Amino acid sequence: MLKDIATPKRTKEILDKYGFSFKKSLGQNFLIDTNILHRIVDHADITEETGVIEIGPGIGALTEQLAKRAKKVVAFEIDQRLLPILADTLSPYPNVKVIHQDILKADVQTVIKDEFQECKDLMVVANLPYYVTTPILMKLLEEQLPLRGIVVMLQKEVADRIAAEPGNKSYGSLSIAIQYYTEAETVMIVPKTVFNPQPNVDSAVIRLIKRPEPPVKVKDEAFFFQVVRASFGQRRKTILNNLTSNLSFGKEQKEQVILALETAQIDPKRRGETLSIQEFGVLSDELLKLRE
Ligand code: SAM
Repeated sequence: MLKDIATPKRTKEILDKYGFSFKKSLGQNFLIDTNILHRIVDHADITEETGVIEIGPGIGALTEQLAKRAKKVVAFEIDQRLLPILADTLSPYPNVKVIHQDILKADVQTVIKDEFQECKDLMVVANLPYYVTTPILMKLLEEQLPLRGIVVMLQKEVADRIAAEPGNKSYGSLSIAIQYYTEAETVMIVPKTVFNPQPNVDSAVIRLIKRPEPPVKVKDEAFFFQVVRASFGQRRKTILNNLTSNLSFGKEQKEQVILALETAQIDPKRRGETLSIQEFGVLSDELLKLRE
């Protein structure tokens, strides 16, 4: 019986066998702690009927643990040098398929249709490459994929921003972008010592469970997100000043913006970081009237 891939000894053996050198530019920090992997997989509530999409399998440390519990795992890996290694390390798991592609360019919707017909639910589970954490999460959420949720390792600082509540210094447009689609919770803080090589930043695992409906119904989603981004433009400015300077309303419309804020029951002197998603929703519908 082979040892798990994610032990320091077996990982070293695999890396040596293939003369593999890490590419920092691809965010290659491999997990070498089986315990941590078990806990990540536990947080994803995977059953024998679950399909899993993994992003960046590396040498297969997490893929292996997912394959043991899920019905099927499809893993997207950008680094061609890892393909022969994965073919070797994952050979005991016939329920794994590796796709050599940049996840940001992949047609995930079609892959889901083709590969997960027989699965009852679908999760994304990954130890993400940290240089592209946010674009990957936004792609997965904005493409409205039929996912139950996402459980991923990322920079702790990004996890803090994603899960932050109004009033918290980490709360910003990323918190709202993600919480609009999901219920977000940081489920683990992970020490640097479980990676090879060790990353420069602290890490955390976040669980995002897709909401059946957004927490607030807005008339124009794209405009809602514009209002949110504008409101956080300069964090020390009031919401009024941020809206007038970042939403191209112009000075002459200032009075109307004040009126829209008051109709939404938001004090124009408040800062964006104090507004809830619901308040942003009401506000964006009021501001939309100025555009109509
Ligand atoms: N899952 C492995 C583990 O936990 O040990 C490796 C995780 S490592 C943090 C990130 C992986 O993502 C690397 O294998 C890297 O080559 C891959 N990767 C980086 N950018 C990617 C992209 N845009 N699309 C797919 N994979 C990517």
